[in-house]
Amino acid sequence: MKQKVGIILAFLAFFAFIFCPNCKKEMAYADEKTEPVMAIIIDDFGGYERGGVSEMLEINVPLTCAVIPFVDHTKEDSEMAIKNGHEVILHMPMESHVNLPQSWYGPVYVKNYDTIKQATEKIDDCLKELPMAKGVNIHIGSGVSRNADLMAGIIAHLKERDIYFCDSRTHPDTKCEEACRMCNAPYLYRDVFLEPHGMKSYASAVRFLKEGASIALKRGYSVAIGHVGREGGKDTALAIKNTIKEIEDMGVRIVPLSVVNERIKNNIV
Ligand SMILES: [Zn+2]
Repeated sequence: MKQKVGIILAFLAFFAFIFCPNCKKEMAYADEKTEPVMAIIIDDFGGYERGGVSEMLEINVPLTCAVIPFVDHTKEDSEMAIKNGHEVILHMPMESHVNLPQSWYGPVYVKNYDTIKQATEKIDDCLKELPMAKGVNIHIGSGVSRNADLMAGIIAHLKERDIYFCDSRTHPDTKCEEACRMCNAPYLYRDVFLEPHGMKSYASAVRFLKEGASIALKRGYSVAIGHVGREGGKDTALAIKNTIKEIEDMGVRIVPLSVVNERIKNNIV
């Protein structure tokens, strides 16, 4: 009789575990090394376009805030991001393959025909302004990111400084993967934009957040990029806030980009 009761209890516990979403979540988080993780980078902090800045910074999961150097709100946004538990990276302006107004880059940016020395000196200056930055990604950059030698010089320099690099993939012909291979650095890159091709809306951001989470479930990690200001702003911030629970219920944890970088570096996926 005692044995029968034991078997019934074991069955009940098993079914409770299978049908209880929180138990599944616990199960997914149980192994810190293999739980699927997703980083959400938010580009364009620091600039004069303030749409969604405070809403984004108030979000209750660790975002990765990419801050443009030497612009109006660089200091204020980066300090606020750290205070609110987010990660900060340098959103390094790099030249496009087409002519754009200088004001889109800010005062310091890597130019298409810079030498490696010129480019790394500019990046070092910017990192002095953002000493808390753990990584670097690209602002604009559809020209510079297609120069494998220049990118390899930049990535090797960052590697020496123990600062990670993330390819925003602002152009389909980016040579950053090749550049990372050249200097034996992990290739960290953006999987989804939350507002691709200027498709800025709440619905689109929700859709691409879920797509990012699905990639993390399949591959172990993923990287999404959204924006404050004209390209994203309040719609994107609200979409993130309202979709966090759904992403977590899928068994995916939102983490700072440095966690994804460590996964790739140590081949733990
Ligand atoms: Zn940008």
